[in-house]
Amino acid sequence: MSTRYIFTFSEMISFTTEVRAQAKSLALVPTMGALHEGHLSLVRQAKLQCDVVVVSIFVNPAQFGPTEDFARYPRSREKDFRLLESSNVHAVLAPSVAEVYPPGFSTFVDPGPIATVLEGAQRPGHFRGVATVVLRLFNIVKPDIAFFGQKDFQQVVIIRRLVEDLNLPVRIAVCPIVREADGLAMSSRNVYLSAEDRRAGVLLRRSLKRAQEMAQAGEVDSQKLLEEMHKLVDAEPRLQLDYAAIVDPATLAPAAVAIPGSVALVAARLGTGRLIDNLIFGPPGSTPEMKLQLAFVTQAADKEGGTTPRPDIDRLRLRIETCRDCAAVSSISLPAREFLVKYLKRDYADLGSTRVLVIGGCAPINPFGLPNFHPDAPNPFATRLYDLVGVKNFVEFKARFALTDAARCHAIGNRVDERTLEYCAKYLREELKLFPNLQSIVILGEYAYMQFQKHILGRERANIKAFGELLKAEGWAQETVRLPSHGERDMRIFYCYHPTFENKKSPSIAAYLEQA
Ligand code: AMP
Repeated sequence: MSTRYIFTFSEMISFTTEVRAQAKSLALVPTMGALHEGHLSLVRQAKLQCDVVVVSIFVNPAQFGPTEDFARYPRSREKDFRLLESSNVHAVLAPSVAEVYPPGFSTFVDPGPIATVLEGAQRPGHFRGVATVVLRLFNIVKPDIAFFGQKDFQQVVIIRRLVEDLNLPVRIAVCPIVREADGLAMSSRNVYLSAEDRRAGVLLRRSLKRAQEMAQAGEVDSQKLLEEMHKLVDAEPRLQLDYAAIVDPATLAPAAVAIPGSVALVAARLGTGRLIDNLIFGPPGSTPEMKLQLAFVTQAADKEGGTTPRPDIDRLRLRIETCRDCAAVSSISLPAREFLVKYLKRDYADLGSTRVLVIGGCAPINPFGLPNFHPDAPNPFATRLYDLVGVKNFVEFKARFALTDAARCHAIGNRVDERTLEYCAKYLREELKLFPNLQSIVILGEYAYMQFQKHILGRERANIKAFGELLKAEGWAQETVRLPSHGERDMRIFYCYHPTFENKKSPSIAAYLEQA
């Protein structure tokens, strides 16, 4: 595959039209070039999730203040092109300033109050420039999913707001921060730093980690955490703190206490450079991906499903139906429902021939665990699943089974609102209809079991047998039910331990599936 280089919007529009004509999904990774591993992590995610990946390179003058570094911002076009070519990117869009802002251009996007705090307060007009160019790129490239880095946390919040407020038909995926070995967040601007600056710069990360340690040890008063952060940073005379803040991830309003999903942000001047960094609070052991989910999904679900004020059900439904949160974390867990359907339709010529559906709570764990994405490199989840159902590899798996995680594709954690799960189950019910000749369903793990019993079979919690009890004797269990999606036909349900989430392992049920 050769990478296409595109310099004009008209050519980009033709490219998008071609992609659309082939019914392929399209990803956009907007950058300002001077690419590093952080950018490339976005590209890798984009490649995992979409058929075609476009990376834009544009140093956007509208987001630089008059005294900022637009003229000297690092530019390394040849090297960038080589990197993107070896990443097998399908197209690079590198428009000129005149292409993006032709004579007479006069409409700018004002993202409102969230663009005037933190970075916005330090860099007036910055996010106006960002939102304008991103909207323009979205309109030209028309991506299904656009990929952004957590590194620029406020930018992500603003772009998500832009998409929601203006009903843009694009999903925003957020990828974790990629760091240098010493902990410094990678940035194109790090080239401005001297060796001594570098050593000082690492303190920003250290202050964030210190706040996290304190929060995990029980000190959640933001004031106290910020005092400690200030103390650490102020001890380094090279660093001049612009701000340190702990905020709510949706509104960026100061958070009095740091709860899981709250975000600590710092920015400091250092020599001729300036550094920003952030950290999402989460329980000990939580991965960067889980923390992103906490910031962008769970808090939103909690808020809408919380006790005070009572949520507006339609808003919650809309949220799940448009499913941008899921998209925001689809770099992490299972892709959103419609994305799943897309892959099913792409990978399965005829869903009518699938007789067995496997439903796993948090099934693929991460995209690398999706056997369909990595048919040649199955992970523990995949290999144990293959053992359970008696196949050797993904090709065999695909010939007989489909895998879904629809029961909880929209959130993780124990704090997921029940109604959210109910809506997720609605999608699962719809998905079941895609398989008209389904005979059996394999349920993996306690979580999927509970959701299936409650939201698909409609059983009262009091009548649902404890999972451990049910599986105690054989290590697995089965029952025959009728599902509304499949009329009067009997459906055999097999309940097994989750291949990777539970300590116990079910024996192979291959022989029983053969009979099904
Ligand atoms: P930039 O070229 O700086 O405008 O960045 C382009 C995209 O890459 C933005 O979405 C950034 O948030 C993202 N990005 C930049 N640095 C990193 C990093 N160290 N880790 C992850 N993403 C990053």
